[in-house]
Amino acid sequence: MLGQIRKAKEVGGDVVEIRLDYLKNFSPRQDLQFLVKQSPLPTLVTYRPTWEGGQYDGDEGKRLDALRLAIELGADYIDVELQVAPEFINSIQGKTSGKVKIIVSSHNYQNTPSAEELGNLVARIQATGADIVKIATTALDITDCARIFQVLTHSQVPTIGIAMAERGLISRILSAKFGSYLTFGSLEAGVASAPGQPTVKDLLDLYNFRQIGPDTKVHGVIGKPIGHSKSPHLYNAAFKSVGFNGIYLPLLVDSVKNFLTTYSSPDFVGYSYTIPHKEDGLRCCDEIDPIAQAIGAISCMIRRPTDGKLMGYNVDYLGAIAAIEEGLRASNGTTNVGSPLAGKLFVVIGAGGAGKALAYGGKEKGARVVVANRTFEKAQELASKVGGEAMTLAELENFHPEDGMILANTTSVGMKPNIDNTPLSKKALSRYSLVFDAIYTPKLTRLLREAQESGAIIVYGTEMFINQAFVQFERFTGLPAPKELIREVLVRNT
Ligand code: NAP
Repeated sequence: MLGQIRKAKEVGGDVVEIRLDYLKNFSPRQDLQFLVKQSPLPTLVTYRPTWEGGQYDGDEGKRLDALRLAIELGADYIDVELQVAPEFINSIQGKTSGKVKIIVSSHNYQNTPSAEELGNLVARIQATGADIVKIATTALDITDCARIFQVLTHSQVPTIGIAMAERGLISRILSAKFGSYLTFGSLEAGVASAPGQPTVKDLLDLYNFRQIGPDTKVHGVIGKPIGHSKSPHLYNAAFKSVGFNGIYLPLLVDSVKNFLTTYSSPDFVGYSYTIPHKEDGLRCCDEIDPIAQAIGAISCMIRRPTDGKLMGYNVDYLGAIAAIEEGLRASNGTTNVGSPLAGKLFVVIGAGGAGKALAYGGKEKGARVVVANRTFEKAQELASKVGGEAMTLAELENFHPEDGMILANTTSVGMKPNIDNTPLSKKALSRYSLVFDAIYTPKLTRLLREAQESGAIIVYGTEMFINQAFVQFERFTGLPAPKELIREVLVRNT
């Protein structure tokens, strides 16, 4: 345990919580003396009983004696459960040096009660004479965190407020914005002392926890699932590098509408949208740009500062098209202003979200669009919207009306873990001058490898991702994107 306490200091903690209930053979005087005295950080001593979600199921008197001993030996904070707090605080009255602060805590592993119930709970905790109030509830929905923020904002005494579990993550990070006395971080992933706890390293390095304050603007990526997203790495690093007072969070959202109505304050300013919420996001916008409207999905939402209205955009297509245009310009060495896609035959495989973005983008740039899709009806529907031609995947195998065609794969065929799959045979690839793949895991898909071997220029899916990140960064901050840094962060994280 002392080794871990030292590690807590190394990783950047300010205080270390010593969970006595996790010690296997605990000899109170000897162990507490050793741990409290040797700790390089201020100590918070907790001895959580099973009836409050901890590990200790022994004698109550001995448990409280150990906490009193910790005070005597110089612990900086003691956590004691609301149920026993009045009696405990009474027992130490006038017997402490005055240095120790008593945290009176209440844990709810079922849900997050109403704002009124939470208010009453805070009042009950305060009435015990607690120095610090601690409330930990369970988030069943991301909107539950809002009630914790409300408690933190209105509390008159130092308060720790946390909504546990995956859907409560933002409460642990935005605690710094709403004035929580502290937040908890684990030493390593997978060894958290409560559900949903991030690591100290993530709090400090990924979320720039020490830079978060009352004026920090909140951004994030709305999706379900969302844990795998690389976007927080990218935007938080980019915000920090230009000194922008913003945070970017993974937002595990069940209902977009509930999320937006709950977090409607001017500080919640910008979102990226991913699967499965791009269509729902569009339905929640006050204003939608024409391309997003035509595609039927948004990938980015901004709260307009002047009137708080929610503006929806689809920047996926900007990212992909810009990447393809760059590839074409680099290959023919031109820098002319017109789009090198104009007049080209542009074949899009897939008719889902990315397929629509690419097909509309191609049309915007004056290309002649062909849509091929497994479900032919969807190809037909999309092709008719962009004034193009539809075909089956089998027909695409022998499609060769002219040379110099451009191919964009927007299906997930060839994506990790099925990296040996490919949407089009190598033989058919020889007819294309440029091949783009929206997939970015792996970076070099079988399709791209075989296209390269066939002599085509290849454009990676990472370029689409990176280009749309530049655009979103500029929409979020109003500042030019730190392009090199964003590239570096993406390379480091994929
Ligand atoms: P989506 O809306 O679910 O569409 C999936 C498309 O793939 C549909 O056209 C579907 O055909 C087709 N498809 C799926 N499995 C197939 C199979 N076994 N054989 C043939 N076709 C198949 O998904 P999405 O959002 O467009 O995403 C598609 C891909 O693009 C993903 O790999 C995603 O990671 C990537 N993407 C990349 C970026 C980037 O920034 N690089 C951005 C967005 C998406 P049916 O219509 O027949 O089902």
